Amino acid sequence: MDSDAFVFFGASGDLAQKKIFPALQALAGDGRLDIPVIGIARSNWSDAHFREHAKAAIQKHGKLDAKAFQHLAQRLHYVRGDYADAQTFKRLVTALNGAARPLHYLAIPPSRFETVIEGLKAAGCTQGARVVVEKPFGRDLQSARALNAALHQSFDESSVFRIDHYLGKEPVQNLLYYRFANAFLEPIWSRDHVASVQITMAESFGVQGRGAFYDEVGTLRDVVQNHMLQVLTLLAMDPPISQDAEALRSEKLRLFQAIRPLSPADVVRGQFLGYHDEKGVAPDSNVETFVAVRLAIDTWRWAGVPFYIRAGKCLPLTCTEVHVDLKAPPQALFPKDPPHAANFVRFRLSPDVAIGQGARIKAPGEGMVGQGVELVAEPDTREDMLPYERLLGDALRGDATLFTRDDCVEAAWQIVDPVLDAAAPVEVYTPGTWGPPASDELIEGQGSWHNPSLDKST
Ligand code: NDP
Repeated sequence: MDSDAFVFFGASGDLAQKKIFPALQALAGDGRLDIPVIGIARSNWSDAHFREHAKAAIQKHGKLDAKAFQHLAQRLHYVRGDYADAQTFKRLVTALNGAARPLHYLAIPPSRFETVIEGLKAAGCTQGARVVVEKPFGRDLQSARALNAALHQSFDESSVFRIDHYLGKEPVQNLLYYRFANAFLEPIWSRDHVASVQITMAESFGVQGRGAFYDEVGTLRDVVQNHMLQVLTLLAMDPPISQDAEALRSEKLRLFQAIRPLSPADVVRGQFLGYHDEKGVAPDSNVETFVAVRLAIDTWRWAGVPFYIRAGKCLPLTCTEVHVDLKAPPQALFPKDPPHAANFVRFRLSPDVAIGQGARIKAPGEGMVGQGVELVAEPDTREDMLPYERLLGDALRGDATLFTRDDCVEAAWQIVDPVLDAAAPVEVYTPGTWGPPASDELIEGQGSWHNPSLDKST
C-alpha cells in the first residue's frame, strides 16, 4: 500500500537542498505526491519560511516548475525540534494528523539515526510506517550490524529502505537490463572467456570543502563498499529468477557471500599530495583519497578471474567505467599481434553512457597484422528521472528493488572490513595522476589499468 505521508528528518540540511526538494517537485509534477510532506529540523522556521527555502533550493539545484512547485508547496509543513527531545515527536504526531502509513526519511548525520528511530517508536510513529535510511549505513561490519539491530527493534525488514542513490541511476540500471535482456552475453560471461574485470571511478576534483566529512570516511567507505560493490554485483551475479525485489537481492547476496574478504595484499591506498592542507583534515591524517583493490569471487562462474576496483580523487578526469577483458584466442595464429590484444566489453557509466565491444580487425596491408576497433552503442543519455525521484517514488510505493537488504549490506561490509583504516599503508600521489605506482603493481600479470578517456576519437 502507498504511504500516506512523507516525513523527512534533516529538512534544513545540504542533502535536502540539493536532492530532496528537486525530487519532491518532480514527483509532484508527475502527479505522484498527493500526501502531506513534513520536514523536521532544529532551525527555528515557520511553514512559510520552509516553503521559501524549498523554492530557493530548487532554483539553485534544479529548475523551478511553477505548477509542480505550487502542488508541492501546498503540502509542505515544517516541524521544529531537536531529535533528542520527545516534544519534537509529539509535534510530529500532530502534524501527521492521523496518517496511518507514513514514510520517514532519515536524511540526517548517521550519529542521529538511532535517536530518531527511538523517538519515532516512543511516539507511536513506527506502526504501519516505512523508513528510508541515508548512506553511510554503518562505518564497518560491527556498526552496520548494530544499526540493523536498532532498526529491527522498531521496523520490520520489509519496511526498511537503505538508500544507495547510485542504484537509481539510469546507466547502472542499464547494466542489469543489458546483461539479462540479451542472450548473446551469457555464453561468454564467465571464467571461460573473461580474463579480468576492472571498474574505475575517477574524480578529477578533491574533497571540495568537505574535508572534515571525508577525513572520517575515506574512499573505501565512501564509494567502494557501497556504489562500486553494487556495480560489481550487477556485472557478476547470476540471473535472478524474476524482477522481484527479493529475487534480485537474494542473487546479489549470493554473490557478495562468494567474494573473498580483502586482505592487505589486495589493497593499495593512496592520498593526494596536498590533502593535509584541506580544511577539516587532520594534519597527520592517513585517510585514503584513492584505493585500488583486487577481488576474488569463489564461484564456478568466476573462479580465478580477478576483479579490480579503483576509485579516487584528484585523478586526471571524472569518469566511471567498467572494462571486461576477454581472453585471447587459444592459439596465436597472428603472432605479431601484441600479447594483450584481447577483446573486451566496456560500460561507460558516467559522465556519458556507452556500451562498447572491442575487437580486432586486420589492418590494411600485406601482413596479417591487426588493429583494435570498438563497436559502440551510445544509449539515449537523457536522465528523464532524477535518481532520488525514482528512489523516493519507489519507497512511497513500497518497492524495495533498488534498496539494500540487511543481509546484503552486512555481506558487503564483510568484504572490506579486514582492510578498513590503516590495514594497508597510504602512499602519496601527485594530483592529476592515476594514483600511486603501487596500483600498477597490483594489476601486473593482467596487463595494465585501462585509463578511461573522454576523447571519443580514441
Ligand atoms: P547536514 O549536516 O547538511 O544536515 C543535517 C540535518 O540534520 C539538518 O537539517 C539539521 O538541522 C538536522 N539535525 C542534525 N542534528 C539534529 C538534531 N539533534 N535535532 C534536529 N535536527 C538535527 O547533512 P547532509 O544533508 O549533508 O547529510 C544528511 C545525510 O545524507 C547524511 O547521512 C549524509 O551522509 C547523507 N548524504 C549527504 C549527501 C550530500 O551531498 N550532502 C550525499 C549523500 C548522502 P539544523 O540545520 O536545523 O540543525
